[in-house]
Amino acid sequence: MKEMRIGVGYDIHKLDSGCKMVLGGINLASSKGSLGHSDGDVLIHAICDAILGALGECDIGIMFPDTNSKYKNADSVEFLYEVKNVMRRNGCRIINLDSVVICEEPKIAPYREKIINKLSDVLEVSSDRINVKGKTSEKLGDIGAGNAIESQVVVLLEKG
Ligand SMILES: [Zn+2]
Repeated sequence: MKEMRIGVGYDIHKLDSGCKMVLGGINLASSKGSLGHSDGDVLIHAICDAILGALGECDIGIMFPDTNSKYKNADSVEFLYEVKNVMRRNGCRIINLDSVVICEEPKIAPYREKIINKLSDVLEVSSDRINVKGKTSEKLGDIGAGNAIESQVVVLLEKG
């Protein structure tokens, strides 16, 4: 049996009315967007950390430090391409990836298919191996107040 590796990723960003909302490389219509050094794509950041975690590699903060001006307003899809290359160099491929995005708005469901297809293209994994779910925080805490967006990701890799 081939070696299996599991990884978990987590990310949270503040929301601000002056920012755009980018999730999984897709622009979402929203009154507030994700504040970050890069484009603030909370889902892709959590995916990168899940894959790097499964590989036993460093995390996204070390790989793409926000102290480096090169990554200012960076397109997070580029981070994901680089992480995919690290995964390939480690001889691993994705069995499946499950994710949840937690925010009060926007609703994820209308964009779900588009986001999955984008991730499928970038990661070169069939779309039925990728899942994205949207959830609210039931008005609780910072997320519930519409001040933050969070993502949690779990990924299973196969080596060899
Ligand atoms: Zn982030």
